[in-house]
Amino acid sequence: MADAVALKNGDVLMLANMPLELTAQVPKGGKLRFMLEENDDEWTADFNKGECVLQLEHRKGDSHATGRAVIEVVSHVQTPARVELAYGEAAQRTIRLLVYTVGEQKAISPNYPRTPVFGMLMAVCRKRGLVLTDWHIHIRGGMTPELAAMREADCGIRSSAMENHGREWEIYDNRKLRAFAEKARAVSVNGHRLPTGIQVNDRDWFAQIDAETRACFDYILADTMIMGKLPSGRDNRLWLDQSINDIPSWMNAYMEHNLRVLSEPISILANPTYLPKEVADGYDELWTDDRMKALIGKAVENGIALEIQAGSPFPRPKFLKLAKSMGAKFSFGTNNFDPTPKDLSRWLEAIEWLDMKPEDIWTPT
Ligand SMILES: [Zn+2]
Repeated sequence: MADAVALKNGDVLMLANMPLELTAQVPKGGKLRFMLEENDDEWTADFNKGECVLQLEHRKGDSHATGRAVIEVVSHVQTPARVELAYGEAAQRTIRLLVYTVGEQKAISPNYPRTPVFGMLMAVCRKRGLVLTDWHIHIRGGMTPELAAMREADCGIRSSAMENHGREWEIYDNRKLRAFAEKARAVSVNGHRLPTGIQVNDRDWFAQIDAETRACFDYILADTMIMGKLPSGRDNRLWLDQSINDIPSWMNAYMEHNLRVLSEPISILANPTYLPKEVADGYDELWTDDRMKALIGKAVENGIALEIQAGSPFPRPKFLKLAKSMGAKFSFGTNNFDPTPKDLSRWLEAIEWLDMKPEDIWTPT
């Protein structure tokens, strides 16, 4: 057993050597919510059930995570809570644990607080005649199509609703996708229904999702943040630790991967020019003009929008300006973990860098 790890609100921790021990100071009646990013499932520890009894619940009500990573509760103990988790197959994996909320659970409002940045963004959009849509709203962590609609009604930025699809994700079949679409499309706001999308995480998704199911969705979003497989056979998620020894050949492979994603029938490339933290310092050298032009050219040729994602440092202004000069269209996204509104200063910056006009904004065809 590794040493106990004390959790604080907002912590992002790298935890190795499962099983592990987590501790958190949580008042009776409080809640600890966290996500094992390894498989994107959200778990909730609920302290409402009397004397120090801890229950772990999967958000879909299952007692196990889906996919190959089976997580079981071994025991529940005292306050401060000690949670012991056994990780199914590999005892030595490193997983990233993202802690959302520790302590008294507050009702989360999905609405944007009226910060100066938010006010400026709205004013800039009015002046430029821009109608923004957030095409990257995940239905997870308590976010629902209804809350997304409530947010749109409150602020005027249009919402959408999207689920992940893939072998290592909760949804990996056509029937579940259609059930989600049916639910989300029933939600309307300001006289129109909520647009509904899929984030595709497998590179053969178009062979898995049938035409009838595809027709239930307004758009398909993909990023380049999963590349190839690990020796274990699992997806290589580039936001988890990477060992990159030969950076030039890694970048060649990554470029090929980017062009492959852009050759799929997708609508939006999320977080373009993303780089894993191990090589992100070399952004300006790695994203040469030739590479940027090849990426943008392919997106323009295939009518794929380039996303401007709240909170992401990618892409840099040089890329955005080059993309605009080559005729690219742009989409906006937040990539939320839950209903908490994100800071939109990145959107505001990009609008100004790009001197954005209504015709620069992507709309589904
Ligand atoms: Zn996403």
